[in-house]
Amino acid sequence: MRFVRLLASDAGVPLYTRTVTLLCVPIMVRDPDAALALAHEAKAAGAGMVEYRVDEFFNPGAPEADPSRQQREITRLVSQSPLPCILTCRSATEGGGYEGDEGERASLYEKTSSPGAKDQLPPRYLDIELASYAGDADIRDSLNRAIDHPARKRADAPGLILSAHDFQSRPADLTRKLLAMQAEPAANVLKIAYRARSLRDNLELFEILSHADRPMIALAMGEFGLMSRVLAPKFSAFLTFASLRPESVTAPGQPTVSELRDLYRFRSIGSKTKVYGVIGWPVGHSMSPLVHNAVFNAHEFDGVYLPLPVHASDDAEANYASFKATVGALVDDPRLDFSGASVTIPHKENLFRYARERGWTVDSLCEAVGAANTLSIERTASGSPKKIRITNTDVEACVAPLRAALGTLEGRTIAIVGAGGAARAAAFGFANSGAEVIVFNRNLDRAERLAAEVSEWGKGGSVAASSHDKLPSEPADAYVNATPVGMAGGPDPQGFAIPIDRIVSPGNTRPSPVVLDTVYNPIETPLVLAAKAKGWTVIDGVTMFVGQAAAQSEGWIGRPAPRDLMDRLVRERLDSANRTS
Ligand code: NAP
Repeated sequence: MRFVRLLASDAGVPLYTRTVTLLCVPIMVRDPDAALALAHEAKAAGAGMVEYRVDEFFNPGAPEADPSRQQREITRLVSQSPLPCILTCRSATEGGGYEGDEGERASLYEKTSSPGAKDQLPPRYLDIELASYAGDADIRDSLNRAIDHPARKRADAPGLILSAHDFQSRPADLTRKLLAMQAEPAANVLKIAYRARSLRDNLELFEILSHADRPMIALAMGEFGLMSRVLAPKFSAFLTFASLRPESVTAPGQPTVSELRDLYRFRSIGSKTKVYGVIGWPVGHSMSPLVHNAVFNAHEFDGVYLPLPVHASDDAEANYASFKATVGALVDDPRLDFSGASVTIPHKENLFRYARERGWTVDSLCEAVGAANTLSIERTASGSPKKIRITNTDVEACVAPLRAALGTLEGRTIAIVGAGGAARAAAFGFANSGAEVIVFNRNLDRAERLAAEVSEWGKGGSVAASSHDKLPSEPADAYVNATPVGMAGGPDPQGFAIPIDRIVSPGNTRPSPVVLDTVYNPIETPLVLAAKAKGWTVIDGVTMFVGQAAAQSEGWIGRPAPRDLMDRLVRERLDSANRTS
């Protein structure tokens, strides 16, 4: 059990010591034998508890229903469970499937929990909504007879989980609900679950967990809520739920057991674990959690890396406002140990702007590019931020592989196609290394503005802008695609931002040019395939992706990143995603 109860404190508040947060697999029961098979699977996968959700199975009001038989089947399921279990018949009013009579539901709980035949075992816990328990004296009496109630101790009876759910939003009366739950002496475990509106709602749940007077489950639902589920052990939650398969989740945003166990290394998360993540919109398919958690694992580093979605729309100022509110709350939270983030589209400029607003350390290249992709936070022992800095590892991720391929960038001519964020990082980086840069873009004004900015910066080589149709006749040692052309699901997946067949005069210093494609999905874009067919040297987008991620983790951990491992993981993930799509 997660908590061992101790004597009441002088203040009358029950104390408890905390051990391990349980991983609980919820099983939606439709067929009790199939549910038992899933419970065995959950046990084999490392779960410590299962929750049998019987609200779709137990339907006493249905025309052909046989409630006595259903109750016996549920009793058998609970008795034969290979893991300690929670029995839940969730009301439709709180997101479940039970629409029947409340008395029938209470009677199911009572019968399943009372001593019966010698091989009948009760569930470890019964879960009932606060609204039902507190709102109906008969239900409360019935439940109190079923459980290990403080007034008539029955050690062999189930404990009571008192719960409250809101599938729409944070309940406006959250505090009232919590106080009402805490006022119930019969409740062994309190559960609060609501749909998070932003990452900030997780922080409130962590605060609630930190002040809990007894075992507590506090979970946020939806795409913003994953943090509360993964970090449950950091905040000593009683349990967290994880489904066996993506299709069997019982609440939005619930991770799978394998995600929790293998990707987020749930078992190694503790109160001191540092929190990192990728901030962007959307970030659900980001490969950064895969790569960074693997690095933490390889270094046995006490950290976890999460997707951190920060909502964005077409309104740049609204995006900045949500970035500022969310990142400010994460950075300033003294309990979270938020120690760093990768920042991606569309928030790289927002990170730069916010860092300047807060007076964080901004390195000179970042200052020049006007965008950053990395946030690093050092904290004092008490959790307060000590030193916060932002960097742009995209720059070095473009420069390093090209420098390796060309020997030096000094005096080399490099054609960049595109004038957006990736092109900016590349243009400043190449110029800083002494290259002669030409920026081509379909919108020539934008290319000219970028060239002017780099020239004004005045470091290293030269930068010019040119119209896209001049590209084939412009001799260059390297061509860089910094547009989404060639990207799966992008504006032109089969297209060539660099018209490779029409390039007439490669640069003077090499027999054939180098091509760097920033697009990494697919790994072999049409451009990469065509350049390879011509025998040109190719640097693909995975190399750049791994380069920027490796520099981030080296900054955070202070140890060399296992680049080969990172490279392999990204290629395997992309290959398997493309095989199944
Ligand atoms: P961005 O800021 O939106 O800029 C996109 C650029 O591409 C703009 O210059 C745009 O031209 C141009 N463009 C868009 N569609 C085009 C088309 N159909 N034909 C020709 N030009 C087109 O995007 P970004 O952040 O720079 O990202 C660009 C690419 O870099 C993306 O594919 C991204 O995946 C990749 N990237 C890769 C990594 C990595 O680690 N491998 C890191 C960062 C970015 P206009 O100015 O005319 O609109």
